Amino acid sequence: MTDVLLSVHDLSVAYGQVQVLFGVDLAVARGSVTTLIGANGAGKTTLMKTLAGMVAPRSGTVLFQGRDIAHLPSHARVDGGLALIPEGRLVFGGMTVEQNLRLGAIAPSARAGHDEMLAEVYRRFPRLQERRHQRAGLMSGGEQQMLALGRGLMARPRLILMDEPTLGLAPVMVRKVFDTIAELRAAGFTILLAEQNARVALEIADHATLLENGRIAMTGTGAELLAAPAVRRAYLGL
Ligand code: ATP
Repeated sequence: MTDVLLSVHDLSVAYGQVQVLFGVDLAVARGSVTTLIGANGAGKTTLMKTLAGMVAPRSGTVLFQGRDIAHLPSHARVDGGLALIPEGRLVFGGMTVEQNLRLGAIAPSARAGHDEMLAEVYRRFPRLQERRHQRAGLMSGGEQQMLALGRGLMARPRLILMDEPTLGLAPVMVRKVFDTIAELRAAGFTILLAEQNARVALEIADHATLLENGRIAMTGTGAELLAAPAVRRAYLGL
């Protein structure tokens, strides 16, 4: 891989006595969509949280733009260009759409150019602009996902970590989320995507990794994983 933005080496993570990730290696190329698939409990969310600095690794390195960030606090990672769009979206339901978006730009590196970024998010998601004064909690699940993504973009990230962005969404919204991911890649963003919706997530992926019981079970292009018998049986229902 020529231009690696994120590289994870031999990463192990435990919650107390319970080890969840075992020697995980992962590389994310600049400008790519890299998909992480795996069953419930495989450790996808734990990996995302570890990359975002919300869970401390037991051992291993996380190189982001060549610098080891494995022990940096979350806010320093956000300021360095890494944004997590968490599972379950976690928008602030009592605040307006626009207040939620503005919260995404609190990092010092994002404050300058705040208004241009807001305009850019509204251009990308016109529905958010239409609803900018509405309480976020009143938006539909799909709209809240767009809001969570828009809030992540407000931080002007170089790498977007998206944890299960289609969870609980109707098929038409699932399609829209994946269209948005493709547009973001075309606009030059780099995306690491954890998904249970394996087929579409692999179809869109430049690179893909299968996580099983906290270990990397397979890695390749999206097309290679789509064609792999073990993936077809266990994750595509074929
Ligand atoms: P899902 O797709 O269901 O969200 P996942 O692949 O994201 O699954 P994780 O949420 O990373 O999996 O969970 C991996 C394992 O770690 C599970 O067995 C889970 O019970 C355990 N786990 C997650 N968070 C904690 C925690 N805070 N304390 C203890 N165990 C945890």
